[in-house]
Amino acid sequence: HAKRQGRDRSTLFDSEIQMTARSRFALEGELRDALQQQSLDVFFQPIMDRTGQHMESMEALVRWQHPRRGWLSPIEFLDVARSAGLMYELGACVLERVCRHWREGMDAGLRLPTISVNLSAEQVLVQELPELVRKICELYEMPLTALQFEVTEDSIQGDFEVISGVLEQLVEAGAELAIDDFGTGYSSLSRLKSLPFSRIKIDRSFINNLPDDENDCAITLSIIGLARGLGLSVVAEGVELESHEAWLFDKGCDYLQGYRYSKPLPFADICAKFLNYPA
Ligand code: C2E
Ligand code: MG
Ligand code: MG
Ligand code: MG
Repeated sequence: HAKRQGRDRSTLFDSEIQMTARSRFALEGELRDALQQQSLDVFFQPIMDRTGQHMESMEALVRWQHPRRGWLSPIEFLDVARSAGLMYELGACVLERVCRHWREGMDAGLRLPTISVNLSAEQVLVQELPELVRKICELYEMPLTALQFEVTEDSIQGDFEVISGVLEQLVEAGAELAIDDFGTGYSSLSRLKSLPFSRIKIDRSFINNLPDDENDCAITLSIIGLARGLGLSVVAEGVELESHEAWLFDKGCDYLQGYRYSKPLPFADICAKFLNYPA
């Protein structure tokens, strides 16, 4: 399993460096257009509670329906967005989409769970981010308590004063804060301690080979213990198999996310599948 993943990764990497400067440039222009036309979309993936039956929250994941290439996943265009300086704008576009879907769902009478939105390093370094978030939420009459934000360890390596100011304002306004892909980044336990996190998401690379890989078991167990000790909830990402689920619940993991429950789907499909809508 691990071997397979390793090969997938290097294939991806190869195709990435083989992408010519010209096609990268084209993609950048098309991405600018997509942002201008607000044609990026978000899919949603459920995060399940301990019954394994009920959706506790859902994560918004950006998607791009490219005019010729079809649906693109973030790994195929986030690098381009990053090097073109478009990450802040992309983040705003995602947030707008999320809030619009939320309003749509509320107007249809749904009981929507918290929606979790990924924030980039570029976004958390902008002091006006909380103001932007408040504005977009106001536009759709969405309370910030309906939102959770996810940041990776790497995305919070910049100017601590700015980042903690931004994240604290979001939390004060009612949003929750999760640390994403935990264990894979430039880890800093002091940042984990000093920022207002309420949740840890264990990276899926540690979940893949549970419960056979002893090292992964030890790491996952210790992250669950760390979350417990700090009074944080803990989510396992990349749960694909029943054996993953069984092991994680046995060890006290609070929430599970992965293909075992659903891949990311359009908003309407998630509502139909997990909120029985329309009944
Ligand atoms: P992430 O935030 O860790 O999101 C989870 C990723 O794992 C998603 O990939 C999801 O489709 C995938 N995944 C979920 N369950 C499974 C599983 O059981 N097995 C496997 N193999 N994969 C699973 P996706 O949607 O391609 O997103 C990749 C990354 O791109 C995200 O990782 C996040 O870092 C970034 N990203 C996605 N949307 C946004 C966004 O709106 N803004 C920012 N800044 N980053 C985003
Ligand atoms: Mg995430
Ligand atoms: Mg993650
Ligand atoms: Mg991940």
